[in-house]
Amino acid sequence: MENREHVILVRYGEIALKGLNRHTFIDLLVKNIRGALSHLESVKVEKIQGRIIVHISDTELDQGVDAVSRVFGVVSLSPATVVDSQMEQIEPVVLEEADRAPFDSFKICVKRSDKRFPMTSPEIGRHLGGVVLKHYDGQGKKVKMKGADREIWVEVRESAYIYSQFVKGRGGLPVGCSGQAALLLSGGIDSPVAGYMMAKRGVKLTAVYFHSFPFTSDRAKEKVVDLARIMTRYTGHFDLYVVPFTDIQTKIVEVCPERQTTLIIRRFMMRIAEIIARKTGSLSLITGESLGQVASQTQESLSATGSVVGMEVLRPLIGMDKQEIVEIAQDIGTFETSILPYEDCCTIFVPKHPETHPNLKKIAAGEAAMMDDAERMIQEAVDQAEKIRL
Ligand code: ATP
Ligand code: MG
Repeated sequence: MENREHVILVRYGEIALKGLNRHTFIDLLVKNIRGALSHLESVKVEKIQGRIIVHISDTELDQGVDAVSRVFGVVSLSPATVVDSQMEQIEPVVLEEADRAPFDSFKICVKRSDKRFPMTSPEIGRHLGGVVLKHYDGQGKKVKMKGADREIWVEVRESAYIYSQFVKGRGGLPVGCSGQAALLLSGGIDSPVAGYMMAKRGVKLTAVYFHSFPFTSDRAKEKVVDLARIMTRYTGHFDLYVVPFTDIQTKIVEVCPERQTTLIIRRFMMRIAEIIARKTGSLSLITGESLGQVASQTQESLSATGSVVGMEVLRPLIGMDKQEIVEIAQDIGTFETSILPYEDCCTIFVPKHPETHPNLKKIAAGEAAMMDDAERMIQEAVDQAEKIRL
């Protein structure tokens, strides 16, 4: 039994390839899989026809499967054993796969792309089925073509790949194939989910967090860093800009009409995020806004915040219920951190009667008292932003 090895067989969606450059897609996927496995010792990632193969040591196999299943663009994966394409090497591995768990019925599924192999696919299937039946002789095992308890797959290529387990990937597009965008990341439930969803569509993230120390504590900032770190399991590495926001926020609360403060604060966040986005190569902003969730997320409010920037604002949660967002947050592992009770800068100065149907002219008028010194304050906030690499 020489030349036996464990690998992860990675499948990507052929449908997702439509309209994209196939090679760019696959090369990016390979690169992102390498990135997701960079913490492991002995990994080699290789392209073969229609699949990606991850060579990995036995001890790191489970960890590897887990990490690769979170890489966007991966549709499914299977831990597999690879042997030389020879029947006497394939047979014992098929029996090992059969032995993994109890079954009554089974099926051998064969894919043969190496046409030099001396048997056809149906012949290989029948032969290996016979080997399994003989091994379990007298135990009443049956071959079942539809709905078998156990499906054992044999792919005969240059080498033979044998497996029976399927792990679902998350689909989507490889991060990086849709360009970069800047996520306004707060410590709440919504914005990490928004970032996750855009990364799933191939967007590479940059994140911007507005920090109003001492109104928001260093714990609040740590919480955002923790959230960003959890997100990297799906998005890969990204930069988080922590923008000092105390002076701007304090002045807004001092000089602007109370009903409008939330909206004006959000408008300043958007302006600053846009500058950071442009400086760092992002084409759009991303927020965690959802229509009607709160007063600052009515259609009029979204216009009032979106209209101050000259780039696209992506709002992937716009049509989702809070419960749907919470379910994704739980699934990706950000929820528990998001609900930690550290105040965020918008909840500190929430007006008692916020404007829900703002008129753009009135907002601009209410904001006028900020504008004499706005450019300097915005520039200062941008210049003093702290960059954290995640
Ligand atoms: P979240 O759960 O993402 O905080 P939310 O429902 O609390 O969202 P708001 O507080 O109104 O909503 O904020 C709307 C969006 O504005 C957020 O999803 C986020 O994208 C952005 N945002 C709010 N506060 C901050 C902040 N301190 N830093 C960066 N972005 C922020
Ligand atoms: Mg919030």
